[in-house]
Amino acid sequence: MTEEKGKRYSRETAIEELKADLISELPPNAQVSKVVFEGPFVVLYSLNPTVLMENGDIVKGLAKSLRKRIVIRSDVSVRRAKDEAQARILEIVPDTAEITNTIFDDELGEVIIEAKKPGAVIGRNGATLREIAREISWRPRVVRSPPIQSQLINSIRYTLTAESELRKRALLNIGLRIHRPRVKEDDFIRLTGLGGFSEVGRSCFLLETAESKILIDAGMNVGSREPNQMFPHFNSPEFDIADLDAVIVTHAHLDHSGSIPFLYKWGYRGPVYSNDATLSLMTLLQKDFIEVAAREGKITPYSTGDIKNMILHTITRRFGEVTDLSNDIRLTMTPAGHILGSSIMHMHIGDGKYNLAVMNDFKARRSRNSLLDKANSRFPRLEAIIMESTYGGPRDAMPRRDDAEIQLVKIINQTAKRGGKVLIPTLAVGRAQELMIVLTNAYQKNQMVEVPVYLDSLIAEAAAIHSCHPEYLSQFLQDQIFNEGKNPFLSEIFIRLDKQNEREPLSKGKSAVIMATSGMLTGGTSVEYFRKLAQDSRNSLVFVSYQAEGTLGNRISSGVKEIRSYEDGKAKLLRVNMDIHQIDGFTGHSDRGEIMNFFRELSPKPERVVLVHGQRNKSQSLAQAISKRYHAKIDIPMNLETIRFA
Ligand SMILES: [Zn+2]
Repeated sequence: MTEEKGKRYSRETAIEELKADLISELPPNAQVSKVVFEGPFVVLYSLNPTVLMENGDIVKGLAKSLRKRIVIRSDVSVRRAKDEAQARILEIVPDTAEITNTIFDDELGEVIIEAKKPGAVIGRNGATLREIAREISWRPRVVRSPPIQSQLINSIRYTLTAESELRKRALLNIGLRIHRPRVKEDDFIRLTGLGGFSEVGRSCFLLETAESKILIDAGMNVGSREPNQMFPHFNSPEFDIADLDAVIVTHAHLDHSGSIPFLYKWGYRGPVYSNDATLSLMTLLQKDFIEVAAREGKITPYSTGDIKNMILHTITRRFGEVTDLSNDIRLTMTPAGHILGSSIMHMHIGDGKYNLAVMNDFKARRSRNSLLDKANSRFPRLEAIIMESTYGGPRDAMPRRDDAEIQLVKIINQTAKRGGKVLIPTLAVGRAQELMIVLTNAYQKNQMVEVPVYLDSLIAEAAAIHSCHPEYLSQFLQDQIFNEGKNPFLSEIFIRLDKQNEREPLSKGKSAVIMATSGMLTGGTSVEYFRKLAQDSRNSLVFVSYQAEGTLGNRISSGVKEIRSYEDGKAKLLRVNMDIHQIDGFTGHSDRGEIMNFFRELSPKPERVVLVHGQRNKSQSLAQAISKRYHAKIDIPMNLETIRFA
């Protein structure tokens, strides 16, 4: 009891001291009324915020000496009334900005200005923005109006605004925890696999130091029917949800993010760190997952309420920004090249004592016109790297991307010529958007016949999210979108499918391409279209991803020609007469050659390599290849094994 009291006393004293130091460094006319820690940020409330906003150097200097991000907000008492503030914004900003929306956030004292031309709201060197801040005493934040409305992004924004009080309370609690003083004398760094060690699926690693516990990904094995293989080993003795400082998410795929709402169902109330693209995409996939499960009469492991809790506790950061996860771990995210928002997690532990990077799903080579740029390979410091080895086997060589593109377009053209339809089962996020770019390009260059490309609603929504976050796309696509005004996701060939027009692509005599989920025909609209199209030999089926053992996709791709299918409760035999193709060159993972090439570019070279996220024999073969060329200690741990780094 006394010890607990003592701890609390020292934590609060340390924070009070930090606040006092801070205020003493600021000019008195800034009139700082309050200093709070909101998550990893230090927030200053001021009665005269323009002094601080206009003297950026003071704040920058302070942020540098404290090594913290400082946010300045106006005190509630000095903010202009919202209707007046809105009118003033419209007066100040030139019409050329084309403002589409302004949203006020009372808790944060922020106004989000949505405009088609954000640059015109910012003004030269930020002059217009500063004028707005000075005039209305709300902190302006500019975002680009999305070219396609994403229902999902709107609903996340609505949640954050409607529940802003809850969110603020959560951030204050998180802030107190992050800024606690260090108390432990001992120091060590260890990593335990709760999932995703020597397997693909349910990735979840626990990183521990004497001071902190961080979960890296909390995935779910969606294909598994056994609950004890579906979730990570949360019953491991090392794992106690009450001790967890943070969850960091490498990317949105469910095998990396699917269990996060489950942690909130269990009572976790700490932060999740990712970027805004990952937050949008993982929310989309988690919601779809529980909706599909409910529709199929299965028990859902968590509810929309748990997803909402996750959203309210998620702190988004951009690539390259440094963030305190706890009092001894700093995180920096850099691009992983796998899907939109996918990140390499670089962690700087104990004032630089040890640096490790987690690369859970990465793509080390990208062609010029692909969705994303390749993974980052340069780090300020690096002692250890934890890396996926999905395609690390000696025979894992992916066909060239260019060849895959030519093959896909050829199949579409041939099928259309004979009056057939092409069904492409695909994952909603990543592969589908990659294909959308390929098809847009081929269509613009007149290489592809003019056929409508239908997208099921999940793929269309994921595409809308991509076009709302263009800053994560490849440089090539950004140039197309911003400089040439060509957004590949807005091409006229794409038609979104919903309840009203779901039968349209099936209409007789018309050729069409249908992209639908799931990618392995394990459920979703792709299975429904497959049943309707399978018997007609004019049609084609194109698999663009790996077909796992036990799935319908796997049986069809291995040549099974008769499928038992259930319609209206009756078993029917379905003859598969359509043409079956498999194209492998669109993967978002690195193959063996790319991984070896990545090692050549990697700088600095780490002394320790941990291979994860792969079949054991593939990881072992990759380990041999790496150790032939580089001097590094290589581990291939099993789930529930622990590795000690220091
Ligand atoms: Zn992935």
